[in-house]
Amino acid sequence: MIDKEALSQPVTQLKGVGAKVAERLQKIGIQHIQDLLFHLPLRYQDRTRLFPLGSLRLQQECLIEGMIKLSQVKFGRRRSLLCHIEDGTGSLVLRFFHFSKVQQQQLAKGARIRCFGEVRNGPSSLEMVHPEYQLIAAEGLVPVDTELTPIYPTTEGLHQLSLRKLLKQALAYLDNNTLPELLTDHDRLHPVANYSLTEALCYVHQPPPDVDVHQLLERTHPTQRRLAYEELLAHQVSMRQLRQRTLHHKAPVLAGVDEHSQQFLAQLPFPLTTAQQRVIDEILFDIRQPQPMQRLVQGDVGSGKTVVAAMAVVAAVSAGYQAVMMAPTELLAEQHFQTFKTWLEPLGMNVGWCAGKQTASERKQVLAELKSGEIRVALGTHALFQDEVIFNNLGLVVIDEQHRFGVHQRLALRDKGRQLDHMPHQLVMTATPIPRTLAMTAYADLNVSVIDELPPGRSPVTTVVMPDVRRDDIVARVAVAGQEKRQVYWVCTLIEESEHLQCQAAEDSAIALQQALPDLRIALVHGRMKSADKELIMQQFKAGEIDLLVATTVIEVGVDVPNASLMVIENAERLGLAQLHQLRGRVGRGSVQSHCVLMYHPPLSDNGQARLKCLRETNDGFVIAQRDLELRGPGELLGTRQTGLPQFRVADLVEDQDLVAVIQDAADHFLQSTPERADALITRWFGHKIDFGQV
Ligand code: ADP
Ligand code: MG
Repeated sequence: MIDKEALSQPVTQLKGVGAKVAERLQKIGIQHIQDLLFHLPLRYQDRTRLFPLGSLRLQQECLIEGMIKLSQVKFGRRRSLLCHIEDGTGSLVLRFFHFSKVQQQQLAKGARIRCFGEVRNGPSSLEMVHPEYQLIAAEGLVPVDTELTPIYPTTEGLHQLSLRKLLKQALAYLDNNTLPELLTDHDRLHPVANYSLTEALCYVHQPPPDVDVHQLLERTHPTQRRLAYEELLAHQVSMRQLRQRTLHHKAPVLAGVDEHSQQFLAQLPFPLTTAQQRVIDEILFDIRQPQPMQRLVQGDVGSGKTVVAAMAVVAAVSAGYQAVMMAPTELLAEQHFQTFKTWLEPLGMNVGWCAGKQTASERKQVLAELKSGEIRVALGTHALFQDEVIFNNLGLVVIDEQHRFGVHQRLALRDKGRQLDHMPHQLVMTATPIPRTLAMTAYADLNVSVIDELPPGRSPVTTVVMPDVRRDDIVARVAVAGQEKRQVYWVCTLIEESEHLQCQAAEDSAIALQQALPDLRIALVHGRMKSADKELIMQQFKAGEIDLLVATTVIEVGVDVPNASLMVIENAERLGLAQLHQLRGRVGRGSVQSHCVLMYHPPLSDNGQARLKCLRETNDGFVIAQRDLELRGPGELLGTRQTGLPQFRVADLVEDQDLVAVIQDAADHFLQSTPERADALITRWFGHKIDFGQV
């Protein structure tokens, strides 16, 4: 029996789903029968053919068969059972760490065994460790599977086998009548539409025997592309809706007094670049509209984003509103505070500061002044969007280094300034140059401006890669820089994700360096120091009173000391490309030639090698970002998992870049021709996961 409502029934309608299973299914986002259908395989196992032992490659997951020639228990560091098997083309060792007496007897010389597992390198030959296995009779043919085995994302207590059984039931409900096509006529022009949704879903859950295995495993099969297309469309449509909802709000018209901007520009020690001017114009246009601006400014490290933000702030304050700028670290927030004081106080604009580490009485005063409106411009960390912070009349929110914050934090800060249906304008800035396709997806709710030009007179940083056995040579370079009065950063990278250990390592390095370089004035900053101490050291470094600054990655974002022209990064192989690029951006800010030494601890993995090579070869943030996307995937590139980018089920922002590009048009058509289907499309793919309606 099939009816239209069938797929929206709860999963408890299915055989084998009681309260416990339902609860586990809910954990992976499955509530209704339809949700099961959209719970797509992560990958496949191929048990449809036997591989000759002589043909195996490392890391291959495959089905093999052979005769046990030798079976022995080895007593080494760990007791293990080793079975040597042969099939006439080659040999392989099966290794078991856990085995019963019975198993040991079964896996004896002369037995024929079929195994499924991953091929690895053993001490003396290729191995499979704890393969799934089956003993088979010496004579006759035992058939292999006819279909690929899908492997689903799952959760504790929910077996692949149970999921597969549930999917069989759910697929039985599936019929063209019950799962409506939501794509538009426009989409049907694209080759992905050669398959209907139902066909595509059936295909990926139960690939037929004649499937092109390679395509399916690579996720390039037309049915997978059909699904990826729809998934990307659903995401884009949801982001457009989010943006539409914001546009329904009103925002203050920030038409500041021209005199203020003139005065501000006149006191700057440099003229703006053309790119800065263009982006400022885009921003000023936006904030003069009665709807909230939502603009992302992308500009490589050192492109001069701060002054662009300051121009917007001047316009807001000059129009009678408060402005706030949030930075991800105290160090950076403090630096902005100093910069803005220098720039804005001459204009009569009162600048304030709010961070987690203020004393209670300092904080109380700041809060009072924010509320009364005495502070016109507030700088700070995420301490700015705690509950007790109340603004008088917030007109503009700027978020620096946006990739360090999640979409929720961004929206939360905006909501701070919300009054009735009024919302402040929002400007977010990032130095992570995001490849276009990724930006279109992750920031589809924002307009994007790009500062694609560096201030004049910068010479690109020269980068070298060196193993840490050459540490002495590197220290000697630091000594030379010191003699030439060039300042140096020495960066210690994250150890095991522990801030404590990281600080420890930085302390050790500082001591060792001071011993090796007794003539240099060396100081240390790390995340666990008091913020006043950090600030003091940064000021001394800026003022040239410190020659060598040993630091943890706290200095990664934003810190600006133009006289620093050498940076050494210890264990550079531990960091991602985008982060290394950010760090390196701390040098090369003045006019002297700057250098960066990426020191690594051998041996380097292939991936590590590729990353360091890329940095050595280019300073172009966009090229680096594209490489990073390819090497590590979008989640890593954007910094965290909370960027607002969902975990896609089939779509792959690297492999499906071509689809991302056409989805823009497709979303336009969708929303024009069939806006009433938007909710069904979004729910189908994202359930309630993309729900920014409240924030
Ligand atoms: P980022 O984009 O990395 O945030 P900053 O705003 O910190 O860059 O600017 C980097 C440095 O360049 C600062 O010292 C800043 O004063 C300087 N700068 C910004 N704009 C210009 C310009 N148009 N000409 C010269 N120097 C500039
Ligand atoms: Mg900056």
